[in-house]
Amino acid sequence: MQITRTPAEVRDALRGAGRPVGLVPTMGALHAGHLALVAQARAECRTVVASLFVNPLQFGPGEDFDRYPRAFESDVAALEAGGVDVVYAPDVGTMYPPGFATSVDPGDVGERYEGSLRPGHFRGVATVCVKLFATAGCDRAYFGAKDAQQAAVIQRVIEDLNLPVELIVVPTVREPDGLALSSRNVYLDVEQRAAAPALHRALDAVMRAVTHGETDRDRAVAAGRAELTVPLHEAYLDVVDPQTFVSPERLDAPVLAIASAWLGPTRLIDNVPIEAPAHAPHEIVR
Ligand code: AMP
Repeated sequence: MQITRTPAEVRDALRGAGRPVGLVPTMGALHAGHLALVAQARAECRTVVASLFVNPLQFGPGEDFDRYPRAFESDVAALEAGGVDVVYAPDVGTMYPPGFATSVDPGDVGERYEGSLRPGHFRGVATVCVKLFATAGCDRAYFGAKDAQQAAVIQRVIEDLNLPVELIVVPTVREPDGLALSSRNVYLDVEQRAAAPALHRALDAVMRAVTHGETDRDRAVAAGRAELTVPLHEAYLDVVDPQTFVSPERLDAPVLAIASAWLGPTRLIDNVPIEAPAHAPHEIVR
């Protein structure tokens, strides 16, 4: 496994590499969720590139950029064990040298929910991802379903900019109690960690309501809201179209239940896809 620090080193390392080339972008502090992306890329691609870069552009003022967990040595060991061919770990000055000025604005899908709580977040994500795609010249890019709005933003960018990259979304890896793995889970104290699975229970309750025929968004959301009790404080809970993140008035197509809640200073996010279209009992065609 080669460790590279600059775009030129990445290109050298990948010259003549077998295709498809799969890219797994990460901010490091790797856990089993990241490694599921690596495993799927390894299974599907001749060459696998993983990036480790805590991207300052996607953090707002007062967010956790400085204290975001960093674990370079153990990350490299985990990527090597996962069969990665090339690691790209640039420093901030390499990614954003003096004079850097261009950014990618993904438009409406990046303004809702996470985008409204973190203004500029998805512009930062889209910008770094386009740079990573261009640097790696990847054919496929692997993203986690856990960050569903991020995946929707990247799909929008790929289509709008005609990028020759296929987005692959990998299902969310969870703890046995339902909590989605996240690098930010290390911020939770014992009491917060014990309460955290309620976020997933809330989403499950919304999903059950819809699959049992609830087509009214407010009633479906209310079913989940009952789970979001102290010490959790809701940031949002909703049912949306998975591509646009617009909330349909009537839940009669495949939709996504999304949620975010604060636990002390930490905000967790999660989502559950609702695959089966909801049908009121009288609409079922036999
Ligand atoms: P991050 O390092 O948090 O930027 O995450 C890097 C990639 O790993 C993103 O595509 C995330 O969606 C994905 N990811 C993070 N947590 C999980 C998880 N629990 N299951 C699956 N993918 C995940």
